[in-house]
Amino acid sequence: MDTHDFDLFVIGAGSAGVRAARVAARHGARVAIAEDDKVGGTCVLRGCVPKKLFVHAAHFADELEDSVGFGWTTKGVSFDWPTLRDNVTADTDWLSGVYIRNLEKAGAELIRSRAVIEDAHRVRLVGEDRSVTTRYILIATGGRPDLDRMIGGVERAIVSDDVFHLRQLPRRIVIVGGGYVALEFAGVFNAFGVETTIVHRGAELLRGFDADIRKSVHATLQHRGVDVICGDKLARIEEDGRGLVATTHGGRRLEAGEVLLAIGRLPNTEGIGLEKVGVVVGADRRIAVNEYCRTSVENIYAVGDVTNRFQLTPVAIREGEAVAETLFGGRPTVVDHAAIPTAVFSQPEVGTVGLTEEAAKAAHAAVDIYKANFKPLHHRVAGRDERMLLKLVVDAQTDIVLGFHAIGLGAAEMAQLVAVAIKAGATKADFDATVALHPTQSEEIVTMRSPVERYRAPISLPEPAPAK
Ligand SMILES: Cc1cc2nc3c(=O)[nH]c(=O)nc-3n(C[C@H](O)[C@H](O)[C@H](O)COP(=O)(O)OP(=O)(O)OC[C@H]3O[C@@H](n4cnc5c(N)ncnc54)[C@H](O)[C@@H]3O)c2cc1C
Repeated sequence: MDTHDFDLFVIGAGSAGVRAARVAARHGARVAIAEDDKVGGTCVLRGCVPKKLFVHAAHFADELEDSVGFGWTTKGVSFDWPTLRDNVTADTDWLSGVYIRNLEKAGAELIRSRAVIEDAHRVRLVGEDRSVTTRYILIATGGRPDLDRMIGGVERAIVSDDVFHLRQLPRRIVIVGGGYVALEFAGVFNAFGVETTIVHRGAELLRGFDADIRKSVHATLQHRGVDVICGDKLARIEEDGRGLVATTHGGRRLEAGEVLLAIGRLPNTEGIGLEKVGVVVGADRRIAVNEYCRTSVENIYAVGDVTNRFQLTPVAIREGEAVAETLFGGRPTVVDHAAIPTAVFSQPEVGTVGLTEEAAKAAHAAVDIYKANFKPLHHRVAGRDERMLLKLVVDAQTDIVLGFHAIGLGAAEMAQLVAVAIKAGATKADFDATVALHPTQSEEIVTMRSPVERYRAPISLPEPAPAK
């Protein structure tokens, strides 16, 4: 008989940890899960959920503006930040409660304490000044916003966690970063009437996304009044008595009520006993795992943002579940990380799945590109000067659809559905055979008939033999 206090000890009650704990407990394992903050983690408390609620709030600005073309009068309409902030906090607190109840129902023991690994089978509960023993340990400690210490006065900046608790909206904000978090908050603040500037060190926003989408996002943000500065870095943040002044290496002086750093996230791998027990961490400080989420130590597993894979909630949840199934469900489970759909909830939003045009051309000898670039019906009457872009990337040799990229109304919802087709290996002929649903934006996905570009990799001929 196993003499440990628990079969599984989970460190961190975020998306990944909670799912693993619940599934393992349902399989009859004796499970404990430690959390040193509110239960729910980044997604529920300071990520996807409150962010998406802010994005919903921002959409009303567009809808009010657009409604005039449809005959509505909107005079006297105003926005109250504390109402939104407090309603969102109440909702995330409620969700945190749901997570707690679900853990209880599953029979997992929730321990409100910071947990640190003492040895491969022993965890210290710092808040309770005691240790427990366990057969397996699962590290699900997530991540936190990165701070660029090279920026002078960086302590004056806020990070994404702080946005959800701002006492008041600033009149101006400088957002540092060019990834999805920076762009989503830029859209939100801009919609709330905050003068918004993005400073991004790269040549273009949204590294890793399809080039057409990157260009389109950039242009639309600017069109909506966001000042986008690429190829420059923040040097320092100072106070001048009236507010903050952010100065860039390129010599720009930007006055702002707040400076938001959205430059990426660091994994929570420090101070949890990894070195002591021999868990290997990569150069990016993330925990290296095998396909079963096992670390370099036999009985210690890691899932979610703390590992070196994708930092997305559904991925974290899948990984947590896979570990529980592998260890206690009698079903060794590997998470398939291919063709994961993802969105940027900017204004307008981006949805994407599969290979970008650039990645497809690098990996395939023949690639056809299909694009639909149009003004949605809604925008014509609304008088909104914005277009939608839908794009399919197709392997011209097999006809298999490799990638889908969209910007505009409903792009994220589209990406989720096209992901099913891509996962199923659908061909362009399958898309063509599907009857359009009219009138929608997404009907364009099945009505793109001719490629706008036919890429064929240059054939490399063998070197001619040297003349004798
Ligand atoms: C602003 C923002 C927006 C986002 N939007 C999206 C989105 O739209 N879609 C999407 O898919 N993803 C989004 N993400 C990413 C998503 O939130 C994360 O991928 C996901 O939450 C990771 O889950 P996790 O369980 O790995 O970590 P977390 O949810 O971070 O959970 C880790 C938990 O461990 C706890 N912990 C840490 N150390 C210890 C310790 N030693 N002892 C006890 N407890 C500890 C932490 O307090 C935390 O609760 C967003 C992230 C941010 C920041």
